[in-house]
Amino acid sequence: MIVVLKNGVGQEKRDQLIDWLKEQGLKVHISQGEYQTVLGLVGDTTRVDMDLIGSLGIVDSVKRVSEPFKCCNRKFHPEDTVVQVGNVKIGGGNFCLMAGPCSVESEEQIVAVAKAVKASGADMLRGGAFKPRTSPYDFAGLKARGLEFLKIARQETGLPIVTEIMSIVDLPLFEDVDVLQVGARNMQNFDLLRELGKTSKPILLKRGLANTLKELLMSAEYIMASGNEQVILCERGIRTFDDYTRNTLDLAAVPMLHELTHLPVIVDPSHATGINRLVSPMALAAAACGADGLIIEVHNDPIHALCDGAQSLRPEQFDGLAKKIRAVREVALA
Ligand code: PEP
Ligand code: MN
Repeated sequence: MIVVLKNGVGQEKRDQLIDWLKEQGLKVHISQGEYQTVLGLVGDTTRVDMDLIGSLGIVDSVKRVSEPFKCCNRKFHPEDTVVQVGNVKIGGGNFCLMAGPCSVESEEQIVAVAKAVKASGADMLRGGAFKPRTSPYDFAGLKARGLEFLKIARQETGLPIVTEIMSIVDLPLFEDVDVLQVGARNMQNFDLLRELGKTSKPILLKRGLANTLKELLMSAEYIMASGNEQVILCERGIRTFDDYTRNTLDLAAVPMLHELTHLPVIVDPSHATGINRLVSPMALAAAACGADGLIIEVHNDPIHALCDGAQSLRPEQFDGLAKKIRAVREVALA
């Protein structure tokens, strides 16, 4: 349920109403916009008397929110959420370019790629240390050592780091990581989502291989309902009947999600296509349709990459793409 307050309502009256709503056993999310205050009510609202609230002098309107996702719902929080990571902002008109290899392979590799993508204008460094792999015989990441190499790369470049967490037992290792990624395969690992909701780290939540947008939003809701509102959504392609590309990039998800939620939405054209030459056109399309950022795989030696070489851009390709992204953003914003 949402309660929209009239313009210019004083703090005291507002707080009295909020306290009363909390006494009814509800959680109250306050969204203080420039012109409007919206109270989002979570919990069992069936016994709340809407007419009574609506009749209060300070209340403009009361509406039930029919969608099952509440905290991430645009109706609860009309303004865009801006997630801040150090000096980097994502959402609300702030575009974030994340880049780096699929997996951290060595200190030299991650530092070299970090320096290259930074020089091209990347805002954040990606790199997997814990890798979910389809085959148990494939390289599964350098684990704790990989996280250490990422931190060295951050120190060398100043770029914040984003990396995947697969299991909550590893959480202590991620204390000094800037953004925690939940991969597509873990999008509905509800225990993991709940635990990440108890942290104060920004979470990059990737859409599952065969999940609807509603399911993606319900997963964001798990994190937010546990107390962490810093969630970035990522469209990374879904499974369809076509197999020329690794996945099918659902770009309509970007404007659709922007309607449904206030959370930032970024796009991963690397996993969405699986093919080097398709990454740039899809990255540009994502920038044109309003994505709040991109996460792109870049490797200094893709042929010898231990994971996802076929979809990785070489640093000079990324450099060319970054320039075009800036140009597209200017046109898209005009
Ligand atoms: C990744 O970003 O390295 C990754 C494994 O992505 P996804 O979970 O989208 O497959
Ligand atoms: Mn990858």
